[in-house]
Amino acid sequence: MLDDVGMDARAVRLAAESIVAGGRRMGARGLIVAGEGNLSVRVGDRLLVTPSGRRKDELRPDDLLLVPADPDAAPADPDRPDLRPTSDLRIHRAVHAARPDIVAVAHAHLAASLAITLAGEVPDPSVLPETGHFIPRLPFLAFMAMGSRQLADAIAAELADDREPTADVVLLERHGAVSVGRSVDAAIDRLELVDLLCRVWRDARLLGWQPRPRGGAA
Ligand SMILES: [Zn+2]
Repeated sequence: MLDDVGMDARAVRLAAESIVAGGRRMGARGLIVAGEGNLSVRVGDRLLVTPSGRRKDELRPDDLLLVPADPDAAPADPDRPDLRPTSDLRIHRAVHAARPDIVAVAHAHLAASLAITLAGEVPDPSVLPETGHFIPRLPFLAFMAMGSRQLADAIAAELADDREPTADVVLLERHGAVSVGRSVDAAIDRLELVDLLCRVWRDARLLGWQPRPRGGAA
């Protein structure tokens, strides 16, 4: 993982520690199961990313891969031919390229969001004061093939859209959410808030609550 040529080894180590801790946090919060979910941190012109097919709540720093941030570069870490980067690497590369102001990208298949979008609903963060404040805008994307360039480009476009307020998390139909932040923890905070919104939305709907039409009068 460590490549000292032109690379700040300390920055890589700190990034690795934040990803390992973030993976444990996503597991403890029930945001991921089995090998789902992925995290990345930009270090210079590379991305430190989680590997494919491994539990993200049991990672060690040596399990991470350092790959070029360039979306058109080969997806491999030359130092780790034994590991494959996350199958969502295209998303991470596209988002980091589109949002140079952020450092970390997080993705998880939030269970309640899968249920809500499977049922054809899109939750509105403004229904709760907390999510309305911290997620002022939550773009939604209809289902696209996992791992496709089309999906990666669409997510990046939503997060780089210059409409105000800026979106820092995108909801995906039957595929969870992708969030960004100036740290791994800030990105995971946004996933937790979308998870909270979706769980509350689902429960309220089951209790008979009817959402107001979007844009309707208060
Ligand atoms: Zn995914």
